[in-house]
Amino acid sequence: MTTAQTPVDLDVQPTPLALLLLGREADPRSERGVECPGDLPSPSDPDLVERARAAKEKLGDKVFVLGHHYQRDEVIQFADVTGDSFKLARDAAARPEAEYIVFCGVHFMAESADILTGDDQKVVLPDLAAGCSMADMATAEQVAECWDVLTEAGIAEQVVPVSYMNSSADIKAFTGKHGGTICTSSNAKRALDWAFEQGEKVLFLPDQHLGRNTAVRDMGMSLEDCVLYNPHKPNGGLTAEELRNAKMILWRGHCSVHGRFSIDSVNDVRERIPGVRVLVHPECKHEVVAAADEVGSTEYIIKALDAAPAGSKWAIGTELNLVRRLANAHPDKEIVFLDKTVCFCSTMNRIDLPHLVWALESLAEGNLVNRIEVDRETEQFAKLALERMLALP
Ligand code: SF4
Repeated sequence: MTTAQTPVDLDVQPTPLALLLLGREADPRSERGVECPGDLPSPSDPDLVERARAAKEKLGDKVFVLGHHYQRDEVIQFADVTGDSFKLARDAAARPEAEYIVFCGVHFMAESADILTGDDQKVVLPDLAAGCSMADMATAEQVAECWDVLTEAGIAEQVVPVSYMNSSADIKAFTGKHGGTICTSSNAKRALDWAFEQGEKVLFLPDQHLGRNTAVRDMGMSLEDCVLYNPHKPNGGLTAEELRNAKMILWRGHCSVHGRFSIDSVNDVRERIPGVRVLVHPECKHEVVAAADEVGSTEYIIKALDAAPAGSKWAIGTELNLVRRLANAHPDKEIVFLDKTVCFCSTMNRIDLPHLVWALESLAEGNLVNRIEVDRETEQFAKLALERMLALP
């Protein structure tokens, strides 16, 4: 559990949809933490870049700014390091002198940074509404209920939970408590190999696609070895027999960004750009991954494009901010976004320059804002699961 959430007033009338579509106002019934204490600078303030620079300079070594690969350019320019969520959490842990860790990413990432950094370090998320739709698809209550279903079916003792890094601290703690491990998109196969040495079945949370793709593509299992547990249906929508026959019990969660790519996107780009190589993230659907030329994590994608020969053509299936930056960084290669429609991660994009300026200036004035703090017990078990990942062969 974390403590830095702004309470939601359920009595507030929703804002008319038209205004929300125009990006004006907010709907407090569906958005958390949109109110910032103090004054949020206007996005049109021409001094925002200078203000961010000045506040950061004033804070000096006391602040360390982390920027996830999917962040906007206007934010990433102030990051001391960039990377995926796990790399960033480790980078923060390697900077114990930094009193404040400003995490330009989403909520679960800030939680992981809090778990891995020292007690004296305070992790700040510039906008508390920057959540992750995938992480939110598995709540502690739903997962506890699922475990009861597995117990009823007589298989809980054979099941090892494996949770993707993109999960809440509560889910990581559940995983640690039940003998499981965390994985990233780079080490998911190693995590599953380890888990199948500890037990006979895996409960994979919360991304069904990463779980299925790793099991089928990398480990030679069949699609029939996998079942999909739907937390919104009684008993997950599965019979006890289906659960007993399964090797992989996949949680019904997905990334709303990577889940948008379809087989049509792949076919269409191959037609538009003859000779293109399709490179996608393993959070994409199984049929998209099966149709791609290469599959890999964000770090893999970055390295693959660095190493690609001049003149090569690439269609990339991951978040658009990153794809655009990669295309700009490699003008000698043709790098396009896999889909025709724009596909940013909307929650990642909530961290904008006004929120970053507001967070940095508040810290520089001695006001700790938007702290993300994981409670002790949750931290202890979540850390156990993360340490099992670090110890993977
Ligand atoms: S890209 Fe997907 S998994 Fe990553 S933060 Fe956005 S919704 Fe979550």
